[in-house]
Amino acid sequence: MNTAPRPAPVPTEATQPFWDATARGVLLFQRCGTCARTQSIQRAFCRHCGAEAPQWERSAGLGRIYTFTVNHRAANAHMADKLPYVVAVVALDEGPRMMANIVDVQPDLVRIGDRVQVRFLPMGEGLCLPQFGPVGAT
Ligand SMILES: [Zn+2]
Repeated sequence: MNTAPRPAPVPTEATQPFWDATARGVLLFQRCGTCARTQSIQRAFCRHCGAEAPQWERSAGLGRIYTFTVNHRAANAHMADKLPYVVAVVALDEGPRMMANIVDVQPDLVRIGDRVQVRFLPMGEGLCLPQFGPVGAT
């Protein structure tokens, strides 16, 4: 059995609301109060116009695979016995794109455009990592 810990995200002041939400099974993204555009990588400012304090919105957790790769070499020791695994960019229905693993499906069956739904992987210490898989197959 692989006992190597999975490298965990390290919340910052700007990302803490996102991680607090994932721990409750809720996926958040940000929308700028000035230009109304969205972003999924949480920041203290809008990456489009630079306005501060983007607002948090709740995602329905549904989207499509925008692009993906199948990893045949593990990025870390924890993933060594999980090869091959899929890393994808998922386009959420609300607009923003986010990077995540695609799970609960054979990697060679994954296709661009596949409909996916979020699920949350508990990582300990109150952290849950968003992942995506087939809709309704949680
Ligand atoms: Zn903006």
